[in-house]
Amino acid sequence: MRIVLTSDPSLTSTFRDIPLLDFLPCAPTENIPKFIYKILDTQLPDDDGKLIQAPYAIRKVESALLNDGFKREDVVVAHPKKIEKFIDEKTTIVGVNTMDPYGLGPVTLMFTEGGKKTSYSKYLFTSFIRRLRDYRERKGYNFKIVVGSQAGWQFELKQDLTEELGIDHVIWGETEHVIGDIFRDIESGGADKFIKIKTWPKIEEIPPVVNPTYKGMIEVMRGCGRGCRFCSPNLRKARFYPLEKIMQEVEVNLRVGQKKMWLHSEDIFNYMVEDRKNFYPNEDAVIGLFEAILEKAEFANPTHGTVAGALAAPRILKRVAELNHAGINRWVGIQVGFETASPELIKKIANNKMKPFSADEWPWVLLNGTYAFNKFYWFPAYTTIVGLPWETDEDNIDTARLILTMEKKLEEKLGERAHFTVTPLGFIPMAGLKEGNFFDANEHLTKGRILHIYHAWRHLAYEVDHGLKRVAKENPNLAMFLPLAKLGSRLVVQSIRKWAMRKGVDVDKPLDLMDIRIEEIDMGIERSFSKPVATEDKIELVTTSYRWIRL
Ligand code: SF4
Repeated sequence: MRIVLTSDPSLTSTFRDIPLLDFLPCAPTENIPKFIYKILDTQLPDDDGKLIQAPYAIRKVESALLNDGFKREDVVVAHPKKIEKFIDEKTTIVGVNTMDPYGLGPVTLMFTEGGKKTSYSKYLFTSFIRRLRDYRERKGYNFKIVVGSQAGWQFELKQDLTEELGIDHVIWGETEHVIGDIFRDIESGGADKFIKIKTWPKIEEIPPVVNPTYKGMIEVMRGCGRGCRFCSPNLRKARFYPLEKIMQEVEVNLRVGQKKMWLHSEDIFNYMVEDRKNFYPNEDAVIGLFEAILEKAEFANPTHGTVAGALAAPRILKRVAELNHAGINRWVGIQVGFETASPELIKKIANNKMKPFSADEWPWVLLNGTYAFNKFYWFPAYTTIVGLPWETDEDNIDTARLILTMEKKLEEKLGERAHFTVTPLGFIPMAGLKEGNFFDANEHLTKGRILHIYHAWRHLAYEVDHGLKRVAKENPNLAMFLPLAKLGSRLVVQSIRKWAMRKGVDVDKPLDLMDIRIEEIDMGIERSFSKPVATEDKIELVTTSYRWIRL
């Protein structure tokens, strides 16, 4: 086969369909025994070595190559465990998609003591590439090992390892409009080792996937207009897929009986947004999107969104919950950036993140946005950042206080319906903040950072006890996994407590809750936003009175 595409084995694991276990490759091999990883690592099925459902990124490369004139019989998407089956003397390129190849991603660095230990992501990727390299040598083949990843910077950073692994080319950036030419250049020997693509395809240059994707992943938008300084998707221009293109990807997945869809976006509440100043969601477009998909599919879950977008348009939360038949044992999950509780800091690093609200309202937005999420059975999985440029110890203490405040006030108000997680990530210098320093969990710890990390993890362990049984209710693997998850999260919390004690920080000393309240989502609260309104022949900005809906 001329072109063999695959993903590294950490991306083809289904991890028994347990929520949050997708993060398992971030864990260090030194702490999680390999036999435990193997028990949890259930791999995607294949048809004679071909992946039936493949990670979305590799499917996108497949469709872009076919769209650019490569013949179907020249391109295969193979299971990484069976890749040798497709490699022969005609193979010119083995393309491998990966996410965190050397274990330098923000979640991984938190678990591996800043990279001192070896994450499963690194172990699996490097073992896989060595297997390819050795197979090439043993058989005397000449194919090029080409790696594609948004984490292309890791290969540049660790060039010795990249050399040793025998990687010939690394590609990163958006590729659909150029991948055909790049592959031809590689085949003819005229391509650079590091190929960083700085241009973007127009939406019409991105062909829909032609084969099913893992988890029924479909893309609804690309890039993000909010411009947070620490974030790489922000460097890309926001573009929205029209509904008919999205439905093509839905149909492709329905073909193999995949009825649950993941809608990939950087911020689902920004889908088709017209108000690029205040980011007031285009409610009708977002709701219309879910209505169209859920006419065909059984469940549609967004990947990412902003808490401000959710709070500004609770009508979206309500309608999407209804369409998904969400309830106490069936939740709509979403990953959301919390970043910090500090209004001053959020203003410096992510000045649009809180819009249409103001930076000063940020802690209030996080509390009330979580309330709105939970009220409609949406389960936000937040991430915060530790080690941001300009952060003070007070900012970190405030983040810990806000987590405690949210836990207490939401539970008082919602009881069993109160759920959220917070995962602290170490700061990675990239995008607009690439001149900063990596956060090193060993060297850069302060009292505030310890409290921030501890309370995030303590709450996560609390949710493993209280929330996991709800989100994974329909999963038969839960009974086996739950005791393990409870044990694992308690061990993490205990080790952070010991670590804090060694540094002289008393994590049990009570922190003051924040003086913010949950406002009822009803007609009693009014806000004014500038919202674009389409008239017959123009779009004009008018100030509308915005009210929260009464439940
Ligand atoms: S809202 Fe999210 S995706 Fe968009 S720029 Fe900010 S961090 Fe990046």
